[in-house]
Amino acid sequence: MIADYAVIRCTRLKCGKFCYCKAKQKTKKCPYCGRVVKLNKIKSIPAETTVHARKLVQEFNRKLGELTEPSWYKTEETTDSN
Ligand SMILES: [Zn+2]
Repeated sequence: MIADYAVIRCTRLKCGKFCYCKAKQKTKKCPYCGRVVKLNKIKSIPAETTVHARKLVQEFNRKLGELTEPSWYKTEETTDSN
């Protein structure tokens, strides 16, 4: 499956919002706080279309109130295992 888009999470702890971008991008500027997120430093969720990506972003951002740290989300800053 080829995913053209990637859903990512802002690496700024106080922000931590989700957004999406083209999968081939190297960096993405968080639309909420302006932090530049390096895509190769984080785990992203593949999405095939913008519709799909947007839906995931909305879903994840809605869940932020309940989950502060989804299990799939980790940065190299906190762990470099695997
Ligand atoms: Zn942010």
